[in-house]
Amino acid sequence: FRINMTELELMEELGRGNYGTVKKVLHRPTNTIMAMKEIRLELEESKLNAIIMELDILHRAVAPEIVEFYGAFFIESCVYYCMEYMDAGSLDRLCGAGVPDHVLARITHAMVRGLHFLKDDLQIIHRDVKPTNVLVNRKGEVKLCDFGVSGQLEKSLAKTNIGCQSYMAPERIQGESQNNLGTYTVASDVWSLGLSMIEMALGQYPYPPETYANVFAQLTAIVHGPPPELPAGYSEEAEAFVAMCLRKDPAQRPTYAELLEQPFLVNDKTREVDMVGWVAKAIDHRDVHRTVSSSRLDQPGSVPQ
Ligand code: ADP
Repeated sequence: FRINMTELELMEELGRGNYGTVKKVLHRPTNTIMAMKEIRLELEESKLNAIIMELDILHRAVAPEIVEFYGAFFIESCVYYCMEYMDAGSLDRLCGAGVPDHVLARITHAMVRGLHFLKDDLQIIHRDVKPTNVLVNRKGEVKLCDFGVSGQLEKSLAKTNIGCQSYMAPERIQGESQNNLGTYTVASDVWSLGLSMIEMALGQYPYPPETYANVFAQLTAIVHGPPPELPAGYSEEAEAFVAMCLRKDPAQRPTYAELLEQPFLVNDKTREVDMVGWVAKAIDHRDVHRTVSSSRLDQPGSVPQ
């Protein structure tokens, strides 16, 4: 069935991204809560239609590690994209002071399974692996979203990605500067996975912009510097796993099948991990910090005790 706007009851805003806003909505005919992303595109109707058709492949992207796609439509120059509502939000905001080893293993396991499924079953390369594109719910489930399925959509979104947080692999950064597009391989996503793991462990992006004089210096560090490592306190298995993902030479990085065989993920299979408890704590931590920073904004000059 097709979803259209008249069937949706708009609820609160969930967040804002680079390209538009995400709102919580109720789909009345099925009584389903969804997340609806609005992407504003200045395009003619035939191009918008092409995007909606290309997005259709997402109906086949059904797996426990992938955020479910419910449908897309357009009104005037906006594409509306309806997906599963994930009530704990994105992973970047849940990592606070860093995730413990066993939780890191469980999250990484979900990410690798999801990426492997996209590649093997649908021949899709994600192209934008990073903690903001990993969503979590209070059941402790971890799922990927925002992967590149529509060539037309990718082309239309302004390429403003070279921001202060680049998850791009060294070979991608070099490729961009040589104008060598279209060479994206799974190995580049494996790099982004490794970088995302370090960010989860540190609770912050591994190449913090304040360390570098400018974006050029930061990108130079990614391309020519040694790859980052996990902070102290993680298992040898975790360290070895991240080091493989962050090999500078893309040909030396493991495939998803190989990653699934690594002790770091094999050990996770039989281990009890209280993901529900971790998510609940992470949400509390996030919301406390949000309250503190918003009360600071309300009362400039006051120092929270
Ligand atoms: P970006 O463009 O930066 O990737 P998005 O537009 O995808 O960001 O999302 C913005 C924010 O909206 C996210 O950080 C997240 O908090 C929220 N969000 C996105 N999708 C969902 C969803 N399916 N369920 C719940 N919250 C979501």
